[in-house]
Amino acid sequence: MNNENSPIQLRYLKFCPTCQIIKPLRSKHDSISNKCIAKFDHYCGWGYSSVGQENHRQFVLFLSFFLILLCIFNIRMLSHFLMVYQPTKSNNYIYFKIFLNLYEQNPSLLLWYIIWTILNIFVLNQLVHQAKGIFNNLTINEFINKNKYQHFWNHHLFINPFNLGYTNNFKQFWGISNHINWYDTFTTQHLSKQDTDQDNVIYI
Ligand SMILES: [Zn+2]
Repeated sequence: MNNENSPIQLRYLKFCPTCQIIKPLRSKHDSISNKCIAKFDHYCGWGYSSVGQENHRQFVLFLSFFLILLCIFNIRMLSHFLMVYQPTKSNNYIYFKIFLNLYEQNPSLLLWYIIWTILNIFVLNQLVHQAKGIFNNLTINEFINKNKYQHFWNHHLFINPFNLGYTNNFKQFWGISNHINWYDTFTTQHLSKQDTDQDNVIYI
């Protein structure tokens, strides 16, 4: 704990009774992995793992590559349908006819296509939320639970003390600049001591 913290800042310190530690700023005790996660984002049920400071970049990269693969797969399948299940007489409802032919001739393939398309939309939705978080410097957990964190509120006004602007937020996320050690940062005052490259952070 930093002895230079003022009494005003000390009231923001949180103790985790399970891990027996003072919780760093932006961390959260994850009940599934039963440990405090630095810069906690969310628990990923697919990966059976908490997403936080250690693996957040890898998670976003995984989502991006997975989305590209899904898009390639969907486009390839669609082009296959256009070639194989083309109706003999073309009309205004050609795409509908292609899928009708597919349904009649190979319903299991159509089912797979629908499942992959839903998966595609789901992954895209996840990536959009992640991009929103990266550019605004907010984790999914902070988006959802922002009302619980006092450091976001100043006279009932929401102020994000981590926000450096879209470009610097992006650079910080990917470790290009404005590096912050989220394991050893306990208050927003402590944040100002580490961060010497920036001059536009609003502190509470
Ligand atoms: Zn804990």
